[in-house]
Amino acid sequence: MILVDRLDVTLSGKKILNDLSLSIPDGVWSCLVGPNGAGKTTLLKVLLGNTPYSGSVTSNGEEVFRSHQRNVAFVPQQPHIPQGITVAEYVTLGRAKKDGWGNESANSRALIAEILELTHLYGMHKQLVSHLSGGEMQRTLIARALAQEPELILLDEPTSALDLHHQIEVLNNLQFLQERGVTIVSTMHDITLAAMYAERIIVMQSGRVLAEGDAQEIIHSAELRKAFDDRINVFTLDSGRPVIVAKKDGK
Ligand code: ADP
Ligand code: MG
Repeated sequence: MILVDRLDVTLSGKKILNDLSLSIPDGVWSCLVGPNGAGKTTLLKVLLGNTPYSGSVTSNGEEVFRSHQRNVAFVPQQPHIPQGITVAEYVTLGRAKKDGWGNESANSRALIAEILELTHLYGMHKQLVSHLSGGEMQRTLIARALAQEPELILLDEPTSALDLHHQIEVLNNLQFLQERGVTIVSTMHDITLAAMYAERIIVMQSGRVLAEGDAQEIIHSAELRKAFDDRINVFTLDSGRPVIVAKKDGK
């Protein structure tokens, strides 16, 4: 369990996160939603443990910036991809902390083969990452994160560059992971997708948390509308599934 208590983050003299308190249960998929500039990416970086903060952010009772034993994978929105690296090499980077670079164990090699299969990258493992399409690139980033066998995986807008089909494919991969006990925290602009996959939703606006809780309850809450200045419509399909779309001219 991660507990965030009265978190403040100030960057370049500007308060980015303001008196934020929330909890992130283990083994659950939590999704941060809110307008641009709400502080979602900043909160992910705090959870990763590499952004200075005041207040308290503990993982199993230990402040995150001090707990170096944690195995946390981070999939950034704009990753830095080393020049000339192949898919297989990039995914293998996920094992570097465990095995040392260039020194993969037989177990690691078997795991990587399994992950390449799962993420449908097996046939393209020799291709350069820089030559991949958006969907293949995102699958490669996630494959590297999986290779790390993390306890927590943080993803910043994992589907924003993908077409509808590839969005579902990537999110299904993450769900597979979550069903095996990994804790997931993602940001997602598409609230319909957030409601389809996340069990918990955290609504943010202007560096604050407006609401957190069960995804299906939050989707229908006044706080979600408020976060988007009441410029969204929430519909419910016959199947019971919520669909969230932007209003046009107030309708
Ligand atoms: P979101 O991911 O919800 O769009 P961010 O966490 O990226 O929001 O940013 C929240 C706010 O903090 C924005 O107004 C952004 O401009 C500002 N911000 C982010 N990083 C820095 C930084 N290093 N220095 C100053 N301001 C920053
Ligand atoms: Mg962001």
